[in-house]
Amino acid sequence: MIDITRNYDVLVVGGGNAALCAAISARKAGATVLIMEYAPREFRGGNSRHTRNLRCAHDGPTEFLKGSYPEEKFFNDLLNITDGNTHEKLARLMIRDSVDAPAWMYDHGVRFQHIQGTLGLAHSNPFFIGGGRALLNAFYNVARRLGVKVLYNSEVLELEIEDGTFRSAVVRSRGFTHKVQAKSVVIASGGFQADIDWLKEAWGEVAENFIIRGTPYNRGRMLKDLIARGAEIVGDPRQCHAVAIDARSPRFDAGIVTRLDCLPFSIVVNKDAERFYDEGEDFWPKRYAIWGRLVADQPDQVAFSIIDSRSIDLFMPSLFRPFRADSIRELGRLLALDPLRLERTVRDFNEAVRPGNFNKDELDDCATVSLEPPKTHWARPLDKPPFYAYPLRPGITFTYLAVKVDECARVVMQDSSPAENIFAAGEIMAGNILGQGYMAGMGMTIGTVFGRIAGKEAAGYVCR
Ligand SMILES: Cc1cc2nc3c(=O)[nH]c(=O)nc-3n(C[C@H](O)[C@H](O)[C@H](O)COP(=O)(O)OP(=O)(O)OC[C@H]3O[C@@H](n4cnc5c(N)ncnc54)[C@H](O)[C@@H]3O)c2cc1C
Repeated sequence: MIDITRNYDVLVVGGGNAALCAAISARKAGATVLIMEYAPREFRGGNSRHTRNLRCAHDGPTEFLKGSYPEEKFFNDLLNITDGNTHEKLARLMIRDSVDAPAWMYDHGVRFQHIQGTLGLAHSNPFFIGGGRALLNAFYNVARRLGVKVLYNSEVLELEIEDGTFRSAVVRSRGFTHKVQAKSVVIASGGFQADIDWLKEAWGEVAENFIIRGTPYNRGRMLKDLIARGAEIVGDPRQCHAVAIDARSPRFDAGIVTRLDCLPFSIVVNKDAERFYDEGEDFWPKRYAIWGRLVADQPDQVAFSIIDSRSIDLFMPSLFRPFRADSIRELGRLLALDPLRLERTVRDFNEAVRPGNFNKDELDDCATVSLEPPKTHWARPLDKPPFYAYPLRPGITFTYLAVKVDECARVVMQDSSPAENIFAAGEIMAGNILGQGYMAGMGMTIGTVFGRIAGKEAAGYVCR
């Protein structure tokens, strides 16, 4: 039985990676800790349950990483993908602190796979054995052994803040509303992507057709509350990580199994059976995160990736079987597209393909000529039946609108002063680092680094 009338040292809001890193760090620094997790126990752990790896800097080969990934390379990659839209001090702090993140995780029960080179990440991203769920189970076990208390089915509704100082939180837990007091608070409650109405405010009605890849519990309630109580915000509500996923995915929480990796070997058409972007622009790990937005900009936010039998075995299979037909016309009918228009689009594409040496692992010379939009690599005529198609929708991973934090992970208020006992970690502050764009593994790195800092600082505030 957990006593919520007791005044804890540190209240942690959320139950994902950032929250657990904070809770463990705070407890190890001597604080008493209570975690409030909105989800029931079976669904604990937010988006972190779906993860596979994190990104970290290192100066030489390790058991789980090849070569090296020095700070400057990591930082330049970040500048590149965000187009400079990052906070250099926080980003460099994250990169330096990422060096010992795998060892810290290992010490707290996480196990890593030996190098496999998946997605070309062997130099930068160690992969968790058992994925994010195993990682979370390990962290929850450690937290329990340390004496951290966890209350599931408990949504924090609002924070009571006086003159920039946190006093208590209003919590709905198992049907009742309580006031929970603590000396400091760490907010690690994710982005707002599961609140479709909020997405609509940013994107308009089209957001009705978005699928949320992760937890339905990240509804941004704490983000909204902090903004209302004077926290400074960074980022743009439309910025997010969005990929193209199978349109048949459930509305929430399908995780990685409905992501589609066939796009570079396919042509992608919209509901008018027209192509709209270069499917072979670059290697897939560098391009997959732009396709959610591309599909979001198409009529009815839907598209179709079409391949022939030559390419069906070239990518990780998806959860759903593709539509299959012996002719393009028949495939068009199955997809409820204009069959003749689809046939014409495929014919135009096939005629524009210049013969080359197909190599899926290189930016090969298989490209189209005089076609708009071009396909600049991996272009081969679609002429080997059977033909296959996957329907696509925008799949939102997480939003980037964030509370501003300082290097102690303290939430910065609109008067530019940091709130002395309010800390934030993970998705809710990711926009400080990711103004736009994404690199694989960043979500877990931000959560691990700032979770640990927030936990330590929150305990330090209490125990000073
Ligand atoms: C399918 C998928 C695959 C991904 N793969 C990777 C990967 O391999 N590597 C990587 O780095 N990133 C990956 N990401 C991104 C990554 O999951 C997140 O960036 C990271 O897990 C965020 O951690 P977090 O602790 O901030 O949030 P979360 O793990 O989402 O945790 C937020 C928690 O807050 C709780 N919560 C929300 N509101 C409240 C409230 N009001 N009161 C109480 N609790 C609340 C939620 O229930 C949840 O437990 C992936 C995401 C998805 C969806």
